[in-house]
Amino acid sequence: MTFSELKLHEDVLSGLDAMGFEKPTPIQEAAIPLIIDNKDIIGCAQTGTGKTAAFLLPLMHKIAANDISDEHINTMIICPTRELAVQIDQQLEGLGYFSGVTSLPVYGGGDGADFAREKNALAKGTHIVIGTPGKLISHLNLGYVKVDQLQHLVLDEADRMLDMGFHDDIMKIIGHLPKERQNLLFSATMAPKIRKMAKAILQDPEEINISISKPSEKITQVAFLAYDAQKIDLVKHLLRYNDIPSLVIFTSRKTKVRDITRALQKEGFEAKGISSDLEQTAREDILREFKNKQLPIIVATDVISRGIDVDNIDMVINYDVPGDAADYVHRIGRTARASSEGEAVTFINEEDQENFQKIEQLIEKEVRKVPMPASIGDGPEYNPKKYSGGGKRKPYKGNRKYKKR
Ligand code: AMP
Repeated sequence: MTFSELKLHEDVLSGLDAMGFEKPTPIQEAAIPLIIDNKDIIGCAQTGTGKTAAFLLPLMHKIAANDISDEHINTMIICPTRELAVQIDQQLEGLGYFSGVTSLPVYGGGDGADFAREKNALAKGTHIVIGTPGKLISHLNLGYVKVDQLQHLVLDEADRMLDMGFHDDIMKIIGHLPKERQNLLFSATMAPKIRKMAKAILQDPEEINISISKPSEKITQVAFLAYDAQKIDLVKHLLRYNDIPSLVIFTSRKTKVRDITRALQKEGFEAKGISSDLEQTAREDILREFKNKQLPIIVATDVISRGIDVDNIDMVINYDVPGDAADYVHRIGRTARASSEGEAVTFINEEDQENFQKIEQLIEKEVRKVPMPASIGDGPEYNPKKYSGGGKRKPYKGNRKYKKR
């Protein structure tokens, strides 16, 4: 399926083009038509599945197609943290560049000047406001937020919001909104408390369940425990002692793409880097070379971890452990496609050990930790608890930790 088959407004399609999204993810395919059709939705999906764009795209489509003015708030997105609010706002800015959709992130912390700025903007109106519950309720209580014509409410990561004790704030916010509206609720789990909340807020919702599929059995997964300083030598070692006609190296950081690519080129390996810094056409050119087997190695961020359509990739190296388990599944799913077999190798430093354990839980498999080559020396010991600070976390104390210093 393509995005144009989903009948999105042409300005939204231009935004998708600019962001380099080629085809919809499963949750986007399922959610977009229902949201355009004004249905309430419960979406069970983790971060990494493309759930943000699954609700942003149809909402932007409706705003653009109906030529909605931004003098009143059209959509409110409530999410648990400032970081998530910023991420959603950034995707919105990218995807909404051509459709003229305006947005305002409103989150905890900040000083009096921030509050006054938000107040002015909220009183003036904006198409979409994205905020954490505490901050939204503070503004709403003061009476100037123009929600009288609100049409859409999105609750993102609802399970996390409940875990953080935001239930009452959310219900208070809803008390300020018009009763006639479309409600979209997303959560990583469908625990009974989420169902209860959904029942109280949503009307006759359609349910979408996108569980992350497990990696294919044809992929051999191994991991090295490696310090960051050892990783580049480890890549070179693997390339020298293995026949790998086609390799993708994934890293979460754009700057690392450049460093790794340069280090490999210096040793005479033919490698090129792809990150969101590159123009779409340049990315496509590199991918084409790779597909045609003219280029053996690409180094990439997660921009291509989904949607890259190349069969017969022999190996995927995770230069670092992706933050989301879903990204791990997407990254390694690039190998062993069609009928071929493939290998996925992950480098785990000290800090990434706990995260890797979460990935192992999600894929319900313990990945074999293989010894480091003698020429490179020992890596860190495997002890996720030790590196995570013994598994103890400070209790959550509201939004105070997000205060600017
Ligand atoms: P999310 O699950 O919303 O956190 O999205 C995870 C990542 O996937 C984000 O970096 C998005 O920019 C990216 N993404 C979402 N939809 C697509 C798509 N259709 N094609 C490529 N990347 C996407």
